[in-house]
Amino acid sequence: MTQPERLAIAMDWGGTWMRVAVVDWSGAIRWHKRRNNPKDKGKDSLLAAGLELLRQAVGACSSHPVAGIGLAIAGPVDAEAGALSGSPQFPALEGVPLKALWEPELGLPIFLGNDANLAALGEYHHGAGQAVTDDEGQLVRTLVYATVSTGIGGGVVDRGELLLGAHGLAAEIGHMAIDWRPDAPPCFCGSQGCLESIASGTAIARAARQRRLEPRWRHSTSLSGLAEEAVTAPAVFQAAQAGDLLASQMVEEVVQALSVGLASVLHLYDPDLLVLGGGVTQGLADLAKLPEIQRRMRVRVMSDGYRQCPLVPAKLGDNVGLVGAACLVWQRLDAR
Ligand SMILES: [Zn+2]
Repeated sequence: MTQPERLAIAMDWGGTWMRVAVVDWSGAIRWHKRRNNPKDKGKDSLLAAGLELLRQAVGACSSHPVAGIGLAIAGPVDAEAGALSGSPQFPALEGVPLKALWEPELGLPIFLGNDANLAALGEYHHGAGQAVTDDEGQLVRTLVYATVSTGIGGGVVDRGELLLGAHGLAAEIGHMAIDWRPDAPPCFCGSQGCLESIASGTAIARAARQRRLEPRWRHSTSLSGLAEEAVTAPAVFQAAQAGDLLASQMVEEVVQALSVGLASVLHLYDPDLLVLGGGVTQGLADLAKLPEIQRRMRVRVMSDGYRQCPLVPAKLGDNVGLVGAACLVWQRLDAR
């Protein structure tokens, strides 16, 4: 009789919702469920909601043995302590040892990672990273994933291994400063001029809300007709699509900021594949701007090795964090 297949449980925990899934070895999602975070965002209610969702996932595995649980969490994670470390999304969970709390409750090993890092791992093993990079059938060696969304995060996978850094904080691409001037936009991290403070969805919306009030744009941009909360990054992309001059100029600035930032990423990590995900990437792709980002990025790099790196959209969509969290389980258990 063959053994029942082992499955992994994955959780993707963002600022507004949590999702859990049962994932098999091939990266396929067998079952999933999503719920909003409790409104009060308090420690006890967040922990209770997370644990309850994980229990449901364990139940959904029925007769299959569960190898372990991977948690992809928004914000910096101390993987060794199994706790969050300075996440702006979860101030109530700062330093809470999720691994130590939940392992005895669920009777399964738990592994934590930053969501963008794990997304990189997911794309490497089951997404864009499965493409070959040259005529000889060479598989991707070094993949950099950047999510350009509400914020900007990143992850680096080199020959199958995540680059974590000494504290699990490596590859914070969004907080690479690209504007040093004293009036550069402020960033939530406390610095200013970070890529995230210029090219993230939050930054685009903030800049559009300010700039539509400027005398030169007030009467000419369609963004002036929108209510404050309707001025979002998707609204800016839509206006650019319709030929709005302010929105087009803003998209041009985002393209330039990403080109400059990603050229630095090429110099730092020397990837043979650069993968872009997230809602802002989707908006730029809809405007056919990804080739332009790649062209400008290539103009800025030092040698041909960097120029050969393709820039491609992510393949796993909303599932990327879940698939990556499952990869972490397989990888950690293998390494034991
Ligand atoms: Zn920053």
